[in-house]
Amino acid sequence: MLDPEEVRKDFPILTREVNGRRLVYFDNAATTQKPLQVINAISNYYMYHNANVHRGFHTLSQEASQMYEEAHEKVAKFINAYSWREVVFCSNTTEALNIVAYGWGLWNLREGDEIVLTVMDHHSSMLPWRIIAKLKGARVKYVDITDDGYLRYEQFEELISEKTRVVAFPIASNVLGTINDARRIARLAHRVGAIVVADGAQSVPHIPTDVRELEVDFLAFSGHKMLGPTGIGVLWGRQDLLESMHPFKVGGDTIKDVTLDDIVWHDLPWRFEAGTPNIAEGIGLGVAVEYLTRIGMSNVREHEKTLVEYTLKRMRELEDVEYYGPRNPADKTGVIAFNIKGLNHHTVGSALDLFGIAVRTGMHCAHPLHYRLGLKGTVRASYYIYNTLEEIDYFIESLEKIISLKDSLRSKPAKEVCTG
Ligand code: PMP
Repeated sequence: MLDPEEVRKDFPILTREVNGRRLVYFDNAATTQKPLQVINAISNYYMYHNANVHRGFHTLSQEASQMYEEAHEKVAKFINAYSWREVVFCSNTTEALNIVAYGWGLWNLREGDEIVLTVMDHHSSMLPWRIIAKLKGARVKYVDITDDGYLRYEQFEELISEKTRVVAFPIASNVLGTINDARRIARLAHRVGAIVVADGAQSVPHIPTDVRELEVDFLAFSGHKMLGPTGIGVLWGRQDLLESMHPFKVGGDTIKDVTLDDIVWHDLPWRFEAGTPNIAEGIGLGVAVEYLTRIGMSNVREHEKTLVEYTLKRMRELEDVEYYGPRNPADKTGVIAFNIKGLNHHTVGSALDLFGIAVRTGMHCAHPLHYRLGLKGTVRASYYIYNTLEEIDYFIESLEKIISLKDSLRSKPAKEVCTG
C-alpha cells in the first residue's frame, strides 16, 4: 500500500501556498513534482562529480561516465529491457519518437507504404510520421475511438494490411486516460511485419511496464513525467532494430571512427546520444526510477485507481460536470478530462487556480482527439503518488462553488468572482 502522506514528505513544493490556499497539484500528466532524492542527486552530481562523459581518462570523467551508464541500467531494469544497450537517453518523448521516425522511417519507407496511427495520438506521436509520410509518399490511416474513449480494435484489423510498415499508438491517452491493449495491437502489426512504436509517456510513470510483455518494438517516455528532471527522455528499442537504424542526430559521440570516406557508428546506445548528453538529468532519472521501484509500480497503479474511482463517483453527483473517456477506473490511468456545462475550460482552470488547484486546460496536444469528440477543449486533472482523497474532496467542493457562480463567471473573469 502506498501512503501518500508519507510520500508527500519528500516533496517540498507540496507545502507551498498558491493564492492563499495549500497547493493541490493535479497537473501530473503535464509534469510531475520532484522528490528531494532526485533534487539532491542532481546537486550532488554537480557539487562533487561534474565532468564530461566518455571523453576523459581523468577520475571525474570516469565517475560521471559510470554514474550516467548506471542510470541507463536502472532504467533498463525498470522496464525489464533485455539489455541496458537498448535504452537510449534523449531529451523527452517527443525526441524519442522523432528518432524512430527519422532513424527508421526516413530510411525504410517507400512510396505506397502505409502507416497506421490513431485519433487518440498525442501530436508528438502523430506528427513525425505525418512528416515522414509526406517525404516518402507513404499514406497515413487512422484508427478511430468509440464514443466512450476506447480504441476501435476491429479497425486495426481492417486497416493493417500487407502495405502497413508502421503502427504507432499511445499505451495510455493523455486526455482520456484510456489504457490501450498494446500486445493486441502489436500482434496484429507483427503479422504483416510492421514495426510497432508505442508512446509510453502516460503509461510508464503510472503502470508497471515490461517491454518483453508489451511485445512492441519501440517505447518512448519522458523522465519529467515520472519524478525525474526535465530534459531527459528515453527511447527503448529492440536491439536488432536499433542496430539497423541510422542516428537521427549525428556528431560527437555517435561514432567509433570517421574517415573522409566512411563512418563507423558507435555501439548502442551511444550512436543515438549525439553530443554532450544531459548527464545530471540522466542521473536524476536513475534515482527517480529507484524511488518508484521502492514504492512499487503496482502500488502506484492501485493508488491512482482509487483516486480515479472516487473522483468519478463524486463527479457523477455534480449535474453540470461532463467527463470523457472510460467510466471504468480499471481501464484508465489517473487522468480525468472534463467540462462544466456552459463554462469555457480556461475559465474553469483559472477559477480552480484561485482555489490553489493546478489543472491543465486546452486540447493537451491532442487536437484531432478533441475534434473527434466535438470539443473545443477540456479541463484535465491528473494524479500521482502524492495526491490524496482529501484533495479530491476539496477539488469537488471547489467545483461546486464554481458551478454556483456560473452565471457571474460567464460575464466576468474568474479573479473577480471567485474571491474569499
Ligand atoms: N505523448 C504523450 C501521450 C504525452 O502525454 C506527452 C506529454 N504531454 C508527450 C507524448 C510528449 O512528451 P514530452 O513533452 O515530454 O516530449
